[in-house]
Amino acid sequence: MISLRGVDKYFGDLHVLDHIDLEIPRGQVVVVLGPSGSGKSTLCRTINRLEPIDAGEIRVDGTVLPSEGKELARLRTDVGMVFQSFNLFAHKTILENVTLAPIKVRKKDKAEARANAEQLLARVGIAEQKDKYPAQLSGGQQQRVAIARSLAMEPKVMLFDEPTSALDPEMVNEVLDVMVSLAKEGMTMVVVTHEMGFARKAADRVVFMADGAVVEDTDPESFFTAPSSDRAKDFLGKIL
Ligand code: ATP
Ligand code: MG
Repeated sequence: MISLRGVDKYFGDLHVLDHIDLEIPRGQVVVVLGPSGSGKSTLCRTINRLEPIDAGEIRVDGTVLPSEGKELARLRTDVGMVFQSFNLFAHKTILENVTLAPIKVRKKDKAEARANAEQLLARVGIAEQKDKYPAQLSGGQQQRVAIARSLAMEPKVMLFDEPTSALDPEMVNEVLDVMVSLAKEGMTMVVVTHEMGFARKAADRVVFMADGAVVEDTDPESFFTAPSSDRAKDFLGKIL
């Protein structure tokens, strides 16, 4: 579903993605771990073509993502992305936040978009808040709206870049629970997170990055109990 072949990315002299090869089949949930600055966010951003790459090829559902143009805008809607900051539209209601892109970009009928949004908001547990504004919701609720908003575009793939890092601890689980159920429903997911509980519970695979390269690529159990590289051992020693 997601395929990266020989992907290189530089910021000036800095080799932020160092020849990444990654094949992620449909329905797989991949947790990306690695020290700060190892390239995890850049990896997500290149998959969504928010960042151009310098070499290699990225495919989503078999289609090579172009670097620009109309086709890119359409293909980008195949890839949903949820960031640390929720980035909701402050002056739109929760329901409007979720219906906006389907109406504007997907040219959905308003009533249909609304019905779909209500269903999605119920799925993430905030149906009753639909007429409020983002500032009236807690961080955990806002992040769940952000997930619903992404899902409203019917993406084939969902990318999460530290979706719970900005949340107070008591709100982390309500967001992770939504992600776990999405994983169980078969969504193809790439998740950058420091939540090892999520990695153990929901991940099919752990990709560990260091200095822009994939250093380990294995199942969670093997990664946590028997990491093979010194970089991963060192990383786990610090976070566990
Ligand atoms: P963190 O865990 O802190 O979020 P990360 O693994 O997500 O780190 P990236 O944000 O992908 O790391 O950054 C990888 C490297 O690229 C870092 O050294 C960072 O400073 C650098 N970098 C990221 N974005 C840019 C940019 N727009 N311009 C220049 N350098 C950048
Ligand atoms: Mg990051």
